[in-house]
Amino acid sequence: MRMMAGSRSACEPARYADAMTTLVIGGAGYIGSHVVRLLLEKGERVVVIDDLSTGFRERTTGAELVELDVTRPDAAEKLAFQMKASGANAVIHFAAHKQVGESVAKPEMYWHDNVAGLAHVLEACATAGVRDVVFSSSAAVYGMPDVDLVTEDLTPQPINPYGATKYVGEWMLADAERAHDLRTVALRYFNVAGAGWPELADTLVMNLVPIVLDALEQGKTPIVFGNDYNTPDGTCIRDYVHVLDLADAHIAALEYLRGEERPHRVFNVGTGTGSSVLEVIEAIGRALGQEITPTIGERRPGDPARLICSTDRIRETLGWSSTKTLDDIVRSAVEARRAAQ
Ligand code: UDP
Repeated sequence: MRMMAGSRSACEPARYADAMTTLVIGGAGYIGSHVVRLLLEKGERVVVIDDLSTGFRERTTGAELVELDVTRPDAAEKLAFQMKASGANAVIHFAAHKQVGESVAKPEMYWHDNVAGLAHVLEACATAGVRDVVFSSSAAVYGMPDVDLVTEDLTPQPINPYGATKYVGEWMLADAERAHDLRTVALRYFNVAGAGWPELADTLVMNLVPIVLDALEQGKTPIVFGNDYNTPDGTCIRDYVHVLDLADAHIAALEYLRGEERPHRVFNVGTGTGSSVLEVIEAIGRALGQEITPTIGERRPGDPARLICSTDRIRETLGWSSTKTLDDIVRSAVEARRAAQ
């Protein structure tokens, strides 16, 4: 664990001993920091737990930050201490490795860190009496479903260690609910992109939108991974959801957990609309005011032709639906990049 000037150690209590507080684990990351910002805007108190391995302290302004690596053997004890000291009544758990390719190359690291991290969080919740838990899951649990719309009823069949650790995480939540009287929700994210605030933008160049923007900035030609799929333009279709909409789904999940009726534990989060790789690149061209002619490359192994979210469950149960379009997503990503230059 790295410590920097101004941070507190994991043994010192967080500030708020007298109020409702949400512990956001991995709150210095891209998605977590958007949720932190929304909670703060709602007037809620937030304690961020993060080891700052991929997150940034500056993203957590307004929240308490405790530097802590949740995969370490003593993490459950330290987390329980923070939960009790802060009077936390809910936890949102983001902290995990999330790169599919890396998970194939380093499966043990994914199994160890993603599973141990969640186990420590759940153990700490049981010890500290924190009832409500929201967990970051992923559409990667579904693998390569051969359906038009992916519903939560589909039996997950993950095809890489990353997706498998997320699916196992959902089982862990179910077991912890039974054993410790917790209330949990897993949100299965589809393709997240964009920025709600420029300073919270995705700085990792891992997904289509940042990869294309990065390539263009370096004067390189973006590459489309295959145009011979069984889709209208031959390129893969995904469901792109704005990170601010996704962050809002976490707020809806917390409200759901605080309520009486909780018929489901798992929700897809997407827009219900698919966009092809070429459509995304066109949208980026519109946002930049330039025409982009990508290179057509080989297919990437493990890519399903289409992955579009069925949004019925989350709309009907949480009352949540997306508000932003693909152009909104791409424009916000472009603006955030410009602001960073
Ligand atoms: N993709 C692409 N070129 C790239 C990066 C991604 O054509 O440089 C495609 C990829 O094959 C997939 C889509 O863009 O069909 C979204 O990929 P990403 O890695 O962002 O997310 P995934 O859907 O794999 O989780």
